[in-house]
Amino acid sequence: MIRIVNLTKTFGEGDQRIAVLDNLNAHFERGRITAIMGGSGSGKSTVLRHLIGAYKPDSGEIYIDGEEITRMDTEEMDQVRKKFGILFQSGALFNSMTVEDNVALPMREHTQLNESTVRIMVKMKLEMVGLRGCEDLKPAQLSGGMLKRIALARAIALDPKIVFYDEPSAGLDPISIGVVDKLMLDLSRKMGITSVVVTHELSSALRISDKIIMLFKGRIIASGTPEEIRHSDDPRVVQFINGLPDGPIPFSKSQTDYGEELKEMTFN
Ligand code: ADP
Ligand code: MG
Repeated sequence: MIRIVNLTKTFGEGDQRIAVLDNLNAHFERGRITAIMGGSGSGKSTVLRHLIGAYKPDSGEIYIDGEEITRMDTEEMDQVRKKFGILFQSGALFNSMTVEDNVALPMREHTQLNESTVRIMVKMKLEMVGLRGCEDLKPAQLSGGMLKRIALARAIALDPKIVFYDEPSAGLDPISIGVVDKLMLDLSRKMGITSVVVTHELSSALRISDKIIMLFKGRIIASGTPEEIRHSDDPRVVQFINGLPDGPIPFSKSQTDYGEELKEMTFN
């Protein structure tokens, strides 16, 4: 469904120039859940931003459902974006709008469906995330886990073939993480949605992924089933999955969050 070929991206000038993605090759199978994992600063968000067309690479190609996207203009990219939903880390719901209006938004913007059909569709999406009956509530009345599920209902509003998840477990309690994990599995298994999950939540990735891609300094250091990753003898992978402070992966100095920028990108 998605193929990344020789993707390279550098930031900075002169001596400061660093390859944030260094000749990356990966594929994401149709209907499967693929997790992109790695420590802070390893390049996870940068990969995601290329996949949704927010960044252009220095070189390399990305094929989504057969189409090469890195050379597309904004209009062409908008067409491709209709095929995918994105669950942002922040949720990115509009606080002034009801749950119903939040979920209905993509339908009202991108389809000609009449109002009664939109309402029925919203009910169906809420049913899928286990929150039917919440139509008239405002985001402020909902818990973190519920907000995430509403945001997921909105991400699947247009029946996407692909859903990108940006740190879906961030800030959630363990029970809510389990609920969101189960929803991701349902969407993949029952509806055949191709899922790309950027996460550093190892237990969750091991539980739901069909494949895990591990990044380290912009390179893929391991790629395989959860079982294969668990048994990897690469010291960097061993360090990551065991959460060891000492090893080849240094403590990171900063955590970058592109939630705000991503939010702006889709809604303007
Ligand atoms: P992760 O999501 O795995 O934490 P990122 O993809 O956010 O990592 O970042 C990888 C590296 O690229 C980091 O060193 C980060 O500082 C750098 N980086 C990301 N975006 C930019 C940018 N727009 N300009 C300069 N450096 C960037
Ligand atoms: Mg990140």
